[in-house]
Amino acid sequence: MSLVDELRSIRRSPKCPLGVYLDTLSGDELKALEEALAASPAEATHAVLARVLKKYIPGGISDHTVRLHRLEDRACACGPR
Ligand SMILES: [Zn+2]
Repeated sequence: MSLVDELRSIRRSPKCPLGVYLDTLSGDELKALEEALAASPAEATHAVLARVLKKYIPGGISDHTVRLHRLEDRACACGPR
C-alpha cells in the first residue's frame, strides 16, 4: 500500500454508522430505509430499527445512533437534512 493510500485508509468517515450504511444502499433498499427513518418514532421506534439494522450493519448499531440520526436537526455527524 502506498503512503497516500495508507493515509487515506486511516481516516474514518465523518458520518455516523447509519449514514455510512445509507450510502451503501440504492433502489428499493434505500427507499425503504429512508421511509422507515422518516416514520414517526411512535410508528417505528429507534430500538426496533436498530434491532433490524444490526443484522445488516457490520459492527452493529445502537438505539442511540438511530435516535441521533433521526432527530429533526440531526444530532449525529451526517449534517443537516
Ligand atoms: Zn447520521
